[in-house]
Amino acid sequence: MTGNAVGAAPNPDSLDPADWTALRRQGHQMLDDMFDYLATLRARPVWQPAPDSVRRRFSQDLPRRPSDLGEIHQRFMTEILPYGIGNVHPGFMGWVQGGGTAVGMLAETLAAGLNANVGGRSQIPIEVERQITRWMRDLFGFPASASGVFVTGTSTANLIGVLVASRARLGLQVRSRGLAAQAQRLVAYAAVSAHGCVAQAMDIAGLGTDALRLIPLDADLRMQPQALRAAIAADRQAGYTPFLIVGSAGTVDVGAVDPLPELADIAQHEGVWLHVDGAFGAMAMLSPELAPKVAGIERADSIAFDFHKWVQVPYDAGFVLVRDGQQHLDTFAADAAYLKRETRGMAGDSPWPCDFGPDLSRGFRALKTWFTLQVYGADALGRAIANSCRVARHLAARVQAEPVLELLAPVSLNIVCFRYLPAGIDGQQADSLNAAIVVALHEAGVCAPSTTTVNGRLAIRAAIVNHRTGTADVDHLVQGVLQIGNRMALEACL
Ligand SMILES: *Cc1c(COP(=O)(O)O)cnc(C)c1O
Repeated sequence: MTGNAVGAAPNPDSLDPADWTALRRQGHQMLDDMFDYLATLRARPVWQPAPDSVRRRFSQDLPRRPSDLGEIHQRFMTEILPYGIGNVHPGFMGWVQGGGTAVGMLAETLAAGLNANVGGRSQIPIEVERQITRWMRDLFGFPASASGVFVTGTSTANLIGVLVASRARLGLQVRSRGLAAQAQRLVAYAAVSAHGCVAQAMDIAGLGTDALRLIPLDADLRMQPQALRAAIAADRQAGYTPFLIVGSAGTVDVGAVDPLPELADIAQHEGVWLHVDGAFGAMAMLSPELAPKVAGIERADSIAFDFHKWVQVPYDAGFVLVRDGQQHLDTFAADAAYLKRETRGMAGDSPWPCDFGPDLSRGFRALKTWFTLQVYGADALGRAIANSCRVARHLAARVQAEPVLELLAPVSLNIVCFRYLPAGIDGQQADSLNAAIVVALHEAGVCAPSTTTVNGRLAIRAAIVNHRTGTADVDHLVQGVLQIGNRMALEACL
């Protein structure tokens, strides 16, 4: 085996540098700047609004001429880096966002250098992805025949779940004939608390959002199995074909876990697919202390989750695991002359990741995940996950100890929903006051919760996902809410 002939003349139009020394120096500088950034996060605001002058810098014309790398990097440092959303910052508690790690950053750099296209063909980068599939299979107690694939995020992973489930029900001829040729009217079920991407998946899959029945919640904001049974019975009575139950392991608004064992029993009894949206919550499996909270997930037919949330892998790194790998393959695999498989050579090692989802060309998301799991070890990641739940419980206790704060939902994992409620204000006033408090917190740059609605009330919502967030950070949140709330209430003479 040999490489290319030595001494071949370089292509003059190549984008490689003539002199690697300067590039190397600049590259090291860029890495150092990012290490400094990560090492000094606490000294920065979580978020700051970008000035118009900076925004305007991004409406320049397409550059026709080259610029110096160092100069463009300086623009990054002054015009991009300071104006992100701040999810790496320990004070960030909004939505559900991971904090990333320096190890993940380095692995992403290696992946970019390798520039592997992990759509298919015979290469070890695909073996890395398969290893992660095997690890996840073992973590969730799935059989050896289960399949998995990296996607952008849980939104796409949920879409894949809906597609595999619907094709499993309708048979593979639907792939050529289309849904319009179907006599069966498929319906799916999820709790009203399910993430919006589940309805969107029904839409994109051509089944329609009306075919997603939204099941009410119990007092702990979990899907009511009794109501699910009744909805399925009513649909069967009306001539619909129930095909899918989507349970949530960690709802996006309050972190509730649907009663997965009951959902699995119902799915089994009714002969329908059980898909679990475990975007962040599925990774509770990494913590022995938390895993019992998501018990029943091992009975799902498919699970969607993100490594980029609770496992702190840099964006993006979503994943879908399917119990029946053949069904998964049958949903997506397609023949194309230019993608012909061989038993030897570079076009070997089929099936390929492109056979398990809609993407052909795909980046090497598995590498940053593999590095993260290897370098930190699953136990440390599990401890960081358990710690964020402890921080959430600490916050809930602080909220409950303050007479003007009200806890709005039970804290089952890492999300705390509460509001500032001084005596004598009505519901409408409370909603706008709490929304204004959150805006003021963002603008102050100390900590950044988001908002949601719980039982019709606007809640300040703190989701502790970032491994850097500790109890002191949520103490700042309580302090900030009280200070800003008291000031606003005084100004408004509430
Ligand atoms: C974040 C989240 C999603 C969407 O995942 P993306 O990775 O943003 O696509 C879906 N469901 C739940 C419960 C989530 O928290």
